[in-house]
Amino acid sequence: MTSYLTGLIGAGIGPSLSPALHEREADRHGVRLLYRTLDIDALGAGPEAVGDLVRAARLLGFDGLNITHPCKQLVMRHLDQLAPEAAELGAVNSVVFRDGRAVGHNTDVTGFARSFARGLPDVPTRDVVQLGAGGAGAAVAHALLTLGADRLTLLDTDPARAAALADALTARFGPGRAAAGRTAEAAERLAAADGLVHATPTGMAAHPGLPVPAALLRPGLWVAEVVYRPLETALLREARALGCRTLDGGGMAVFQAADAFRLFTGLEPHTERMLADLTELAAASS
Ligand code: NAD
Repeated sequence: MTSYLTGLIGAGIGPSLSPALHEREADRHGVRLLYRTLDIDALGAGPEAVGDLVRAARLLGFDGLNITHPCKQLVMRHLDQLAPEAAELGAVNSVVFRDGRAVGHNTDVTGFARSFARGLPDVPTRDVVQLGAGGAGAAVAHALLTLGADRLTLLDTDPARAAALADALTARFGPGRAAAGRTAEAAERLAAADGLVHATPTGMAAHPGLPVPAALLRPGLWVAEVVYRPLETALLREARALGCRTLDGGGMAVFQAADAFRLFTGLEPHTERMLADLTELAAASS
């Protein structure tokens, strides 16, 4: 029987749903796949340990690794090659070991793009406001502009992060597609926007509440969420109560895992089954 050895490197990843998502999908294909968490916190190591862990995994015969916070940039210097989307974003969330080489990919970008295309097809994207310009925000912004959003305004409580991401997006997609604003301008920016993308940790158990006042939402505004634990955040609840079209963060989580599964195994994932798994796993862990 074909078998695969995979895993995840990051900090505080004990509760990750990735092992169950990958292993259940492998079971459906009738192949053996082990997905191990290599938690740098549990190992008492720092983020820079990612290099040693990647080298060890390669020596031990791993087929692939997912990489998460805080190692997505640090891992890049330990790889032989980067796929174009990982090089353009400057972050890697999946490493494939093949023919003696370690190749970095980024399936957060493709994962959000596929989730958005599936969950909010045909929504207007002339003017989109995005809250949060961190790791997830960078991937989501690249996906939105790749999908053809005309103009993205980035708001972050750390203005330097919003400005740096806007500069990187402008360098890649050309002038006029991305700009940084100030969070104090959220009301006027949202009044003119087609949609809101939320990419800050607000709404997770550790960061409860709303990222913007509920009064800034209105029925014609679509709302896409990146947080997926819980699947229904306070922001989504408020938006749905107003009748807004919404997208939860579960789709991005599933499609990034599905795209990584395909890279690791060469098998075509059953994404609808993986979405059902995520719903079940997220409910069980909340
Ligand atoms: P991060 O710390 O890299 O970035 C978060 C950014 O949000 C920071 O720049 C911070 O300054 C900003 N911020 C915080 N509160 C804000 C507010 N109220 N208004 C504006 N900006 C604010 O974190 P990250 O890695 O980008 O993760 C963000 C969230 O995305 C987390 O909840 C994470 O679980 C989630 N995530 C989901 C997926 C998925 O597949 N669905 C993938 C990656 C991350």
